[in-house]
Amino acid sequence: MSEIEHVHIDPIPCNECPAGMMQPRLITYFTWLGEELITVPHFPAWICDMCGKREYDEKAISWLTMLLSPTAGKPTHRHRKAPLAQPRSGPAHATTDS
Ligand SMILES: [Zn+2]
Repeated sequence: MSEIEHVHIDPIPCNECPAGMMQPRLITYFTWLGEELITVPHFPAWICDMCGKREYDEKAISWLTMLLSPTAGKPTHRHRKAPLAQPRSGPAHATTDS
């Protein structure tokens, strides 16, 4: 588990404007969970110092998505059974359309 601390992060060039650099920042992230507005302080993001474009940290987003997902309260320790039992090769992504 890595915590977000003062790691060494370089600014990355902005892809929206030629001269901007996106700087790592901690912002307050807003998202809706159903009808509830969730605010997440100190959320890692990249903000361009020229045009203000924001990119959120992907890992942080997926962490947040996981936190807010309906199953978040439950331990997700059960590994799915390995899909070895599948008789034939096919699309790994078996959907049950009925
Ligand atoms: Zn920019």
